[in-house]
Amino acid sequence: MVQDFEIVIIGAGPAGLAAAVRLLEMGHSVALVEQEAFPRPQIGESLSPGVRPIFDYLHAGDLLDDFSYLHNKPARIAWGGGDPALLQPGQRGAGMVVDRARLDARLLAFATGKGLRLFQPARIAASVWQGDKYEFRIRSAEGDQRITGSIVLDARGRNGAPTRERLQLAPASVALWAHVPARAMPDEACIETVDEGWIWGAPVPWEQYRIMVFTDPDSLKSRSKTQTMRQMLAGSRLFGALVAEGLELKTCLVQTYVHMHPWEQQYLRVGEAAFALDPLSSTGLEAAMRFSLQAAVAVHTMLTDNDPTVAKAFYESKLADAVASHHRWTSGYYAEAGKINAHFPFWQKRREFRMEAIPATNAFTALVKQRLAWHPPKPAGEPAAVPIDPLIRFLWDKPVRLSAQLAFSPEFAVTGDRVEVRRALVHPNLSRPLVYINQIEIPPLLNTLGEGVTYGSAIETWCRHIPIPDVRKVLGFLWGAEIVQ
Ligand SMILES: Cc1cc2nc3c(=O)[nH]c(=O)nc-3n(C[C@H](O)[C@H](O)[C@H](O)COP(=O)(O)OP(=O)(O)OC[C@H]3O[C@@H](n4cnc5c(N)ncnc54)[C@H](O)[C@@H]3O)c2cc1C
Repeated sequence: MVQDFEIVIIGAGPAGLAAAVRLLEMGHSVALVEQEAFPRPQIGESLSPGVRPIFDYLHAGDLLDDFSYLHNKPARIAWGGGDPALLQPGQRGAGMVVDRARLDARLLAFATGKGLRLFQPARIAASVWQGDKYEFRIRSAEGDQRITGSIVLDARGRNGAPTRERLQLAPASVALWAHVPARAMPDEACIETVDEGWIWGAPVPWEQYRIMVFTDPDSLKSRSKTQTMRQMLAGSRLFGALVAEGLELKTCLVQTYVHMHPWEQQYLRVGEAAFALDPLSSTGLEAAMRFSLQAAVAVHTMLTDNDPTVAKAFYESKLADAVASHHRWTSGYYAEAGKINAHFPFWQKRREFRMEAIPATNAFTALVKQRLAWHPPKPAGEPAAVPIDPLIRFLWDKPVRLSAQLAFSPEFAVTGDRVEVRRALVHPNLSRPLVYINQIEIPPLLNTLGEGVTYGSAIETWCRHIPIPDVRKVLGFLWGAEIVQ
């Protein structure tokens, strides 16, 4: 017997599960195949402040309230040879350190509670494209089962992005890590650059402290892992007291990439199957989940419209934006530290890496290159707060003029979980194209401002469509940004 689903997700990491929860909430039938039995170990325990709002949005905020998770740890940072600076928790927002095995297992249970059909531990033994959907043969302890999915979300993490399909966005590094008892280090996160790379330490649940070093893969060609770790710790001011001998070292190759074909036919990649960030940002999980929410909206749009055009363009555009903004952030930090440690391979390769040299082999990679080459204008800052009532009295009889610098461009907007293309305002005083203020679509309001329209008549017209407090907000914003004059 074949079981039919609208969406089949492969991989129950945060990316697969965020998409599953949203798609179930939107009313779709979703199956998920996970190869491991949970709880399973997973790296990536330091959660950036942006993760909590995502869990809250999924109505899963409770899952972050666990007695074993760590909050409000300060961070000591010695980046680029400067004196170590202590950042108090408030200065970095409310980040936290979790037990990923535990968190992922609880998020999976939350998703199954919403109606997810789970195959676990299970693997895909065969897959066939049938012209309009995929058919999979799933192998598990229950025996072989056949399922179909109109759309597949590949959320297999780095397994979902084979090396030959990755567009490499930075030189590779290798991560070596181990755990020591928490008492061996101060109760704070520590980040430090050393000659051969950088070191990141953090208290983690269960009275442990995790030390992770990032270095050039060539460093391991002529030395053992322990020797490499020892050398890097010895050259450090924050971790120098630690002894590398006897540590149980784990290792992985760290690549920063975007998949060259994130959306093929009805097969989409999400999370680290689509793109992997440099661990320096420690926002990998946040980015993976945030992007999955956008993928869920794209999938819902495609299923509703029965046409992938807008959904695919939206999804690829969001992915290219995420890649470019992350790259700008990390390359700035590496450039700063590379000045000090310039002649060591880790830093030298980063200095010599040229974004312009990455190949544009298809429309998506060309889009990524285009976004990487684009430098966002400095935001003009928030428009000045305008005392609105005196302003309205002053302007009432005067004609409304639109700024000569105002232009319009098509932009994606998400309305009720669907992607639509809308007209957006583009203006030098806006840091990004603008469609909505307070969920009110602005271009249609500006359409009412023809020849001879005064502020008074415009306000009366707008009040027929939107409540007066919103009219005041919109007018105050547009006037403050000098879009209406
Ligand atoms: C060294 C290092 C340190 C990091 N530190 C941090 C950090 O501190 N903070 C942070 O936010 N991020 C960090 N990250 C990134 C973070 O781990 C990832 O962003 C996050 O786990 C990505 O989530 P995901 O759901 O895409 O993939 P994953 O979490 O990797 O989940 C993928 C799932 O797919 C399953 N799977 C794989 N293949 C198959 C298959 N064939 N069939 C079925 N199931 C399959 C796996 O078992 C797994 O459960 C780090 C990454 C690295 C490499």
